[in-house]
Amino acid sequence: NQSLHELDPEVAAAVEAELGRQRDTLEMIASENFAPQAVLEAQGTVLTNKYAEGYPGKRYYGGCEHVDVIEQLAIDRAKSLFGAEHANVQPHSGAQANTAVYFSLLKPGDTILGLDLAHGGHLTHGMKLNYSGKILNPVAYHVRESDGTLDYNEIEALAKEHQPKMIIAGWSAYPRTLDFERFRAIADQVGALLMVDMAHFAGLVATGLHPNPVPYADVVTTTTHKTLGGPRGGLILAKEEYGKKINSAVFPGMQGGPLEHVIAGKAVALKMAAGEEFADRQRRTVAGARLVAERLTRSDAVEVGVNVLSGGTDVHLVLVDLRESELDGQQAEDRLHDIGITVNRNAVPNDPRPPMVTSGLRVGTPALATRGFDEDDFAEVADIIANALKPDFDAAALSDRVQALVAKHPLYPGLR
Ligand code: PLP
Repeated sequence: NQSLHELDPEVAAAVEAELGRQRDTLEMIASENFAPQAVLEAQGTVLTNKYAEGYPGKRYYGGCEHVDVIEQLAIDRAKSLFGAEHANVQPHSGAQANTAVYFSLLKPGDTILGLDLAHGGHLTHGMKLNYSGKILNPVAYHVRESDGTLDYNEIEALAKEHQPKMIIAGWSAYPRTLDFERFRAIADQVGALLMVDMAHFAGLVATGLHPNPVPYADVVTTTTHKTLGGPRGGLILAKEEYGKKINSAVFPGMQGGPLEHVIAGKAVALKMAAGEEFADRQRRTVAGARLVAERLTRSDAVEVGVNVLSGGTDVHLVLVDLRESELDGQQAEDRLHDIGITVNRNAVPNDPRPPMVTSGLRVGTPALATRGFDEDDFAEVADIIANALKPDFDAAALSDRVQALVAKHPLYPGLR
């Protein structure tokens, strides 16, 4: 019964260093967040020891009476939070959730219509090296060159031309809300199923800051660790008629034993997501992203070619467009890293630079909102980023300003 420190000092030291990194920098990767201590605690429990193949009340192992309680709580909370008829909380990740949906409702070779990866879609929406692009027949829709927003007329035309079996709405890098009514109407015109992958914006949906796809979609998938702020994992919501097929695609179709310690973390996160503190956090997340977009577009960084895709944001991220800047995505990411801000470079539509370099940055506010940032703090962050992207930036001064914000909002104060 040795502690981690005693048994494996090398791993313990790296974990401690990672905690230090998270505390001492500003985390602005749009897909990341800080899980609350209660979620970390749930994941570090003896539930990790338990095999529980099957579903609550119908397991293939004995001794599942307690994990049944936990998994049922997670299922009930997910259904109630999003108004869904059916929930499966077992997918190990967002990618697994999407795979399970495809396996349950599609056949190899079926056509899917999803957002192009280079325009903000996800790998699992039909990228050619992903199984979704290998096993299915993917067709991609795009954002408009003129304003960086979705062109629903193009989606409709592509749907009519290619007659997809499933249309996929959802994104990894897109700064605007989606029109699910329009997606549903297009799907109905061609007899397609509609899947919405709300991995990024599920926290906003839970608090009414983004339209809820559940009434419109046949199936909705999400991760539980992005704006939802829980443990790393996936979740599937569906109309009751698809429930059985989806459950059997997850287990035994794709996965063996569920991670009940992670499911406990999901249950805790879903409980928190129904509360006022979470709603306040999501409001600060969106307000923060709007401020970053506004201040960047009004700053003199614009004069050196720094723009914001679609001119702003409705959600928790801002896509910085560096196509007209001498600074590329890699250089901008490195420069922000050096002053203590973590973001990721991101291809913009019709990016002239190679995918490993890119001409964009994806800047997200969920983790800082969780850390307690308010609008004044986000305004300061925006000014620091705008300054850092100019040629005459003062790295030492900007680094000091980052450290002042870090000190103002301690992260995991009770954790060692
Ligand atoms: N779907 C979308 C829209 C995503 O952005 C992501 C992750 O970035 C995923 C699915 C996959 O989630 P995971 O990394 O948990 O497999």
